[in-house]
Amino acid sequence: MVNNEKVEGLTLEEWKTKYPILHNMTETDEVFWTNPGYDEIAKATLFVTPEEVQDAEERLRRFGSFIQVAFPETREAGGLIESPLVPIKEMHKYLESRFASNIQGNLWLKCDSHLPIAGSIKARGGIYEVLAHAEELAQKYQMLQTDKDYAGFASEEFRELFSRYSIAVGSTGNLGLSIGIISATLGFQVTVHMSADAKAWKKELLRAEGVQVVEYASDYGKAVEEGRKQAEADPNCYFIDDENSKRLFLGYAVAAERLKRQLEEQQIKVDRDHPLFVYLPCGVGGGPGGVAYGLKLVYGDNVHCFFAEPTHSPCMLLGLLTGLHDKVSVQDFGIDNKTEADGLAVGRPSRLVGKMMEDLLSGVFTVADEELYALLRGMRDHEAIRLEPSALAGMPGPARLFQQETGRHYLAKQGLTEKMKNATHIVWATGGSMVPENIQDEYYAKGQETKEK
Ligand SMILES: *Cc1c(COP(=O)(O)O)cnc(C)c1O
Repeated sequence: MVNNEKVEGLTLEEWKTKYPILHNMTETDEVFWTNPGYDEIAKATLFVTPEEVQDAEERLRRFGSFIQVAFPETREAGGLIESPLVPIKEMHKYLESRFASNIQGNLWLKCDSHLPIAGSIKARGGIYEVLAHAEELAQKYQMLQTDKDYAGFASEEFRELFSRYSIAVGSTGNLGLSIGIISATLGFQVTVHMSADAKAWKKELLRAEGVQVVEYASDYGKAVEEGRKQAEADPNCYFIDDENSKRLFLGYAVAAERLKRQLEEQQIKVDRDHPLFVYLPCGVGGGPGGVAYGLKLVYGDNVHCFFAEPTHSPCMLLGLLTGLHDKVSVQDFGIDNKTEADGLAVGRPSRLVGKMMEDLLSGVFTVADEELYALLRGMRDHEAIRLEPSALAGMPGPARLFQQETGRHYLAKQGLTEKMKNATHIVWATGGSMVPENIQDEYYAKGQETKEK
């Protein structure tokens, strides 16, 4: 492709000369990039404080009594919205044979795919932000003074208050599901602006909950822009800004302390001699960024976080590589942002998250859609766990860390080569339990077509 148009002052060819990995990215080849800016957490610039994460955790605990009334499936956990951590030994073997790679250490799956209420990682950030907004309104109307028990949020009195307010969000699907369900439950009027990638069943489910769904023919960026416009026109409308929201980020970051407890229960050590590796699918960046940030606060330099993106939507990688973050989109570089991984179909990353990840993130790798389907099939065959395509993006991470030259170089540089037999690898499964059975079967069939690599 001959293209003389400049992107932020350079032609595409000049960008490629500056960052050779762009040759592969623009060809939509799979890449494994390690971050040259990765540094000790002590030296990182932190835009969100540990106290704010703590505060978010406490807020979610306060809401526990409401959550367990509104969503009885959370009663056993005291209204905590949390997911299991499970070993995936069979998948470990399957990955080793599929990638002809020896994965040292143990492999676990963090099943956010099975989070209550919304069945995806969005049940962390999305629900947290709506609850924080609801609490703020309740405080404004002094409805929390006498009624300290948050079970009151399920009452008619609160519903009546919230029905005078509205909430808007732009989404590729899962954020809309999470925000839509919690907002409608509290009594808010809620509008979800859905991008073209959003699956029909997600829209239907939301409409059945009484959520207003507006559909767009273009991608995620447009849906967000329209949501923002709607909110600006109405002072009683609260816009959930997936690209810039600190509250969403905090809701995700709370996952880290909870994971720490789960690892302790399993008697899994994380320290200088027992490194932890976490592989997180990335769209706009808030979900994986929040979790990674929380983990860095808990484990410091002993945790190594990698993001995974589709080969057709490597927006966070592009932003980190060029240092331009939200100033560039994958489309600017001739990459089409067309992927079956609807949760990751984002062309432009969050600046807030990208800036924070400059020091904290170990690397980013990209995954082809057909690989996601093959791994989806593998998970169902070998572990009987059903996931949506986006949720498989992190899965090749552990295999490729050892297989790729850049991965091995990272381990050597960090002085970890000899310690990897003690490593724990956690693949973050970000969604899937709400996918209807017939659509799950379609996904599975696609995996069958590309069985062998
Ligand atoms: C939203 C989503 C992600 C990524 O989260 P971002 O905050 O957009 O980076 C990953 N997986 C699934 C299934 C999602 O819905």
